[in-house]
Amino acid sequence: MTATKKLILHIVALVLIILAALALRSITIPCVFRELTNIPCPSCGLTRSIRALASGDLRLSLYYHPLTILIAALLLLAFHRNKLKISSKVIDLILIAGSVVIIVVYIYRLSNNLIP
Ligand SMILES: [Zn+2]
Repeated sequence: MTATKKLILHIVALVLIILAALALRSITIPCVFRELTNIPCPSCGLTRSIRALASGDLRLSLYYHPLTILIAALLLLAFHRNKLKISSKVIDLILIAGSVVIIVVYIYRLSNNLIP
């Protein structure tokens, strides 16, 4: 696949993600874990955060989930790890460090009742 085709695919994917986020504005997706346990999960608030981000409201996005941008970056890194000129060990360390941050922030948000 040429670089131009890859770029077009990435742009199309980005547009579809934005459209999906805009479509989600009127839809609420219940958290199965929260429904079953009455305890929020580490990803609770992500949908609302992405929706707020798609609407351009960064403050509201951070309120719903402060790590949305970090999680998106980690997912991009994980999905494109073979295409990057970075050592696999470094990528693994970044992903592990990111996962630790996600867990620590989850425990902090949970213990301070900060998950909306
Ligand atoms: Zn959840």
